[in-house]
Amino acid sequence: MNLTTKFVLALVLATSAVLVVDGYVTVRQAVVFFEDDMRRQAELTGRGLADLVEDAWRLGNQERAIKVVEEAHAERPTMGIRWVWLDASLGNSHAPVAPAELLRPVSRGSEVFFKGLDAKGDKRLYAYVPVAVDPARLAALEISQSLAPLNEYVRSTILRTALLAALILALSTCLFLFLGVKMVAQPLQALIEQTRRIGEGDLSPAPAVHGRDELAKLARALNAMCVQLAQALERARTETDARMAATEQLRHADRLHTVGRLASGVAHEIGTPLNVISIRAGQIARGDLPSQEASECANIIVAQVKRITTIVRGLLDFSRRRRLSRTPSSLRAIVRQSLDLLEPLAKKSRISLSVAGEEMPDVAHVDADLVQQLLMNLLMNALQATPEGGRVEVAVLRERVRPPVDVGGSEGEHLCVQVRDNGAGIPAENIPHVFEPFFTTKDVGEGTGLGLSVAYGIVRDHGGWIDVTSRIGEGTCFSVHLPLEDRPCPQES
Ligand code: ADP
Repeated sequence: MNLTTKFVLALVLATSAVLVVDGYVTVRQAVVFFEDDMRRQAELTGRGLADLVEDAWRLGNQERAIKVVEEAHAERPTMGIRWVWLDASLGNSHAPVAPAELLRPVSRGSEVFFKGLDAKGDKRLYAYVPVAVDPARLAALEISQSLAPLNEYVRSTILRTALLAALILALSTCLFLFLGVKMVAQPLQALIEQTRRIGEGDLSPAPAVHGRDELAKLARALNAMCVQLAQALERARTETDARMAATEQLRHADRLHTVGRLASGVAHEIGTPLNVISIRAGQIARGDLPSQEASECANIIVAQVKRITTIVRGLLDFSRRRRLSRTPSSLRAIVRQSLDLLEPLAKKSRISLSVAGEEMPDVAHVDADLVQQLLMNLLMNALQATPEGGRVEVAVLRERVRPPVDVGGSEGEHLCVQVRDNGAGIPAENIPHVFEPFFTTKDVGEGTGLGLSVAYGIVRDHGGWIDVTSRIGEGTCFSVHLPLEDRPCPQES
């Protein structure tokens, strides 16, 4: 039931109640007034007549007394006037209509009033006025008046009140329905429509509303809110864009730094093929090789160039600037790619790089390039912390765990990548700071302090988290947890 119908119904009920009460009180008052009037008339008529009758009786003229009563009856057609003996038995022409027990006060000289039916079945008001004529017998004048006019009056009053009520109700219902629809239902519908649009993200203000009532004020306030929300949204968008650009720049700087670190390993790695190319090219250039051998040298040169190209392309791919984009990717494949890139550097430092853990479904919805960047940062740190001849191991596992409180969410399946080294370890007092930007224990030019903070940001952007455990002299283990199902990623929204 809508608001207008409720208002109209309440109004109809309230008006009906008032009209019914008013009609009832009016009719009650009219009945009381009417009856009082009838009693007074009967009383006055009765008393005057009683004096005349008593005088006539006293003078011994009983016929005259009864005649007076009959004449009085004849003169007043609306009244029935009779001489009654109170002890007359039922059926006697002078027996009273009212029952004997009601007429007792008459013996004490008081008038008695009674409402009853006459011989025709019509309702009448009977008045009994005592007449002191015979000390041995109680006599009274019975004066009756028909109650039909009163009943008629009551009926017509009820009818008039009912008609009036119906008219008022019909008019007020039409008026309130019209006003309710025009002034309440339509503006409310427009407000509901606007709030629905706001809920769907459409913040364009509704057409301007004029008027000074509460609904008009509410509509204007809603419009103002839309404008403010749109501005706030625009500000938030600009700030998010700026933050994304800054994060991207930071990640790019971190990438270039890693590329710089890789360069020494790469230089070593491409040194050997370059030597081979140089020697073979020299042999061909001297022109003293038989054509069969020259062709072999040329093939060797081609193979070495391919090897160099692969190494350089890997480096270039890694250093390229990209935007976040998540696709289903195998974590084990990303780990292998990262290890391939680091292989030259590890070889140079005589550190063994290996992948542990059993083969199992390891596809997560991630940005493969960013996950590679975070793994490269962890692996590069591990290599730097591990002495010659040491070991760096990467494991890809599936775990059912509950995310920490600051990440939130319920217990669920996660992919966990662990990067473990048997290097120097991190002093306990440094552990709370390692993920802070620009925290580094390395020499100037060696470390930027960005690697782990960038890694932390990448993991959080994927709805995951990163932990570290370390013992001085024994080694360090970084564990990256990534959810299997998507969690909201702030930069993608
Ligand atoms: P950077 O490597 O440029 O110093 P990071 O943010 O990558 O910056 O690392 C911060 C610090 O954390 C490092 O300077 C180092 O002290 C410590 N650290 C990180 N990984 C390891 C590790 N595997 N072993 C020992 N210390 C580490």
